[in-house]
Amino acid sequence: LSERLTDTFRNLRTKGKLSPADVDGTVREIRRALLDADVALQVVKEFTAKVRERALGDDVNKALNPAQQVVQIVNEELVGILGGEQRRLELAKTPPTVIMLAGLQGSGKTTFAGKLAKRLEKDGHTPLLVAADLQRPNAVNQLQVVAERAGAAIYAPEPGNGVGDPVKVSRDGVEHARRQQHDVVIIDTAGRLGVDEELMKQASDIRGATRPDEVLFVIDAMIGQDAVNTAKAFQEGVDVTGIVLSKLDGDARGGAALSVASVTGRPIIFASTGEGLDDLEDFHPDRMASRILDLGDVLTLIEQAQEAFDEEEAQKVAEKLATEQFTLEDFLEQMQQLKKMGSMKKMLGMLPGMGQMKQQLDDFDEREIDRTEAIIRSMTPVERTNTKILNGSRRLRIARGSGVTVTDVNQLVNRFEQAAKMMKTVARGGTPNIPGMGAM
Ligand code: GDP
Ligand code: MG
Repeated sequence: LSERLTDTFRNLRTKGKLSPADVDGTVREIRRALLDADVALQVVKEFTAKVRERALGDDVNKALNPAQQVVQIVNEELVGILGGEQRRLELAKTPPTVIMLAGLQGSGKTTFAGKLAKRLEKDGHTPLLVAADLQRPNAVNQLQVVAERAGAAIYAPEPGNGVGDPVKVSRDGVEHARRQQHDVVIIDTAGRLGVDEELMKQASDIRGATRPDEVLFVIDAMIGQDAVNTAKAFQEGVDVTGIVLSKLDGDARGGAALSVASVTGRPIIFASTGEGLDDLEDFHPDRMASRILDLGDVLTLIEQAQEAFDEEEAQKVAEKLATEQFTLEDFLEQMQQLKKMGSMKKMLGMLPGMGQMKQQLDDFDEREIDRTEAIIRSMTPVERTNTKILNGSRRLRIARGSGVTVTDVNQLVNRFEQAAKMMKTVARGGTPNIPGMGAM
């Protein structure tokens, strides 16, 4: 997914202003990229409609260029759908906290139960795993192995009791936790390969019997387009409170995350990223959005936005020069600024139409600035704003005051007048061609 979007934004980046046609083209690409990532069609439609509306509206960040504006909008919308702020597990005020797991068979419930138990143990809790998957012969045994590896206690029906009742086991498990002072109960339930009514009824009954604080829907991130129907079924059947995205260590690039979060309106709380019990991460909506958008590329775009912004500032200076009278006072102020910036070439290079002056600028001697500054400082304020009044005696006085010759003063005044003319030309968008610029 990220590669596709990267290409899309690369195309957009080379363009100028964002037109409705550009937006449509970009939105079409985003749409295709999301579909490629197995985001459900319905979710893709809603998402792209929102992005399009915002990109065409004037709710855009002026400091960013068009491509970056779209990146920002797409990113914000992604984070929004993925839950906005990171959401943590809700622990009950009066223990035990009851956490019920639901999901299809093979989605990663039992594995996640072990991961969560281990995490809780580490945080000082005393979790109890409850084996309420009595559907598959080996399920209880599997949870026992996981519990042992996690170093957590387990409540399971006695073997050889025939087919147990998962609702009763769940209820007894919570009761057991209360007596044994376990502060968190994790109920591992059964799953079928597809959504079916019997399974849903069982899950719903367990929910009713144990009144869990959290019902976590575990979904395989690789599930693809089926994510929407599965998530809808569980949302309606058991009313989940949060989502666990499993197998995020595979090829999945987040398509399921977007679909499930969007369809259920529930936050993704955990990301399961491997078969080991330590492969558990808190889910961060912003990081997932970055993963989808490809973080490195977004950062590059932000850098370019800054450059574009600097250019805009230079343009503003040029506009000021065009409308206001450029005086020696301004000239001095600019020189001091340039000295601060350390590079006159850089500054002038940003002005439009200055490209062909580069060679002349390369010959520029920064020590000239100091001499020029001394001369201007020896002028009166009136002389600085109006060079026309500089007669012979004034020029002599200035030369003496700054320790230069009258010829030096004459040269500066000439260069200034040429520069002032050039600034105006540049500001109007023309290409200046003034001899002697290199000696300014
Ligand atoms: P359940 O039927 O919902 O309880 O699913 P399981 O916990 O038994 O997991 C089914 C399979 O998926 C097992 O082989 C697990 O090792 C594997 N699995 C579970 N979670 C992950 C994960 O985050 N990453 C990977 N790669 N495999 C996982
Ligand atoms: Mg299981």
